[in-house]
Amino acid sequence: MSKITKIGILICDRYRSCGGGKCFRALRERHGAFSIYPAEDSVEIVGYSSCGGCPGGNIEYVPAEMKKNGAEVVHFATGLVVGYPPCPNIRRFKTFLETVYGLRVVVGTHPIPQKYMDAHEQLPFWKESGMMEIAGELMKESREIKTAFN
Ligand code: SF4
Repeated sequence: MSKITKIGILICDRYRSCGGGKCFRALRERHGAFSIYPAEDSVEIVGYSSCGGCPGGNIEYVPAEMKKNGAEVVHFATGLVVGYPPCPNIRRFKTFLETVYGLRVVVGTHPIPQKYMDAHEQLPFWKESGMMEIAGELMKESREIKTAFN
């Protein structure tokens, strides 16, 4: 029997007007961090919000609404990882949601577009911050798919 997983998505407020096209495509195609869900299972988005702007005021309250709607997992949108500068608060946000709300947190939504991958590989932040590990689901994606999300 197929499973239904309810999720929330938190985006970086710098991209608050984003239409979410890459995220919804990736969810449908099970790419990027959404590859953790088997294709035969359903994933329902029960909450979608920005962090509220640096330093992330919505992180304290918005997950409560997501949880009330049944969210089991919260995804931090790929924009937190690939924007420049990348969000410096990802670890704090993750620890907060896991500890206070008991939610599973996955860093990432859609695959990292290859053009951003190319830029970040020339820069030190990801390596210094451990982003390669914390956003591990995104880092596993193939170059072909990343290029398709440029
Ligand atoms: S960099 Fe981080 S804290 Fe700042 S707006 Fe983006 S997600 Fe929010």
